[in-house]
Amino acid sequence: MPFNLSTRRTFVAGAGLAAAMPLLASCGGGVVEARKERTFRVSKTDAQWRRELSRSEYRILREAGTERAYSSPLDNEKRAGTFTCAGCNNRLYSSAHKYDSGTGWPSFWRSIDSGAVETSTDYNIGYPRTEVHCADCGGHLGHIFGDGPQPTGKRHCINGVAMDFIPA
Ligand SMILES: [Zn+2]
Repeated sequence: MPFNLSTRRTFVAGAGLAAAMPLLASCGGGVVEARKERTFRVSKTDAQWRRELSRSEYRILREAGTERAYSSPLDNEKRAGTFTCAGCNNRLYSSAHKYDSGTGWPSFWRSIDSGAVETSTDYNIGYPRTEVHCADCGGHLGHIFGDGPQPTGKRHCINGVAMDFIPA
């Protein structure tokens, strides 16, 4: 579908758009153009990523794919610990902020700190959504929706394949 490019490439500072989403939408998928236009601290060629990542990790992190709901063991991970980026080991989420959203994807009401993840807007399924990616390597993680628990009201809907879990 022919979206206006300048609109597609608009970054948002936060997850404000997600608040307008009434639906308990899935993590969604599709290539996020905005993310590809800047250089991240961890920057590799496509060939390097293909070599270093598993096929499913590559599909999620580099092609903004979406894993099947309830397919990741991390959805049920209840131990204390830290969730890191499967692409670059950046610390992304803490078990302290994880909750069971019932969606089948690991869900968090905030990232581990303010610099861990970044967001962009995607229109892959026809309306704007807040895409969330690793701040260090740009790897796609999932989306942020506005139906999470307090105190943030946010739901970071994250593909388990995009993360590794380090028990505390
Ligand atoms: Zn990363």
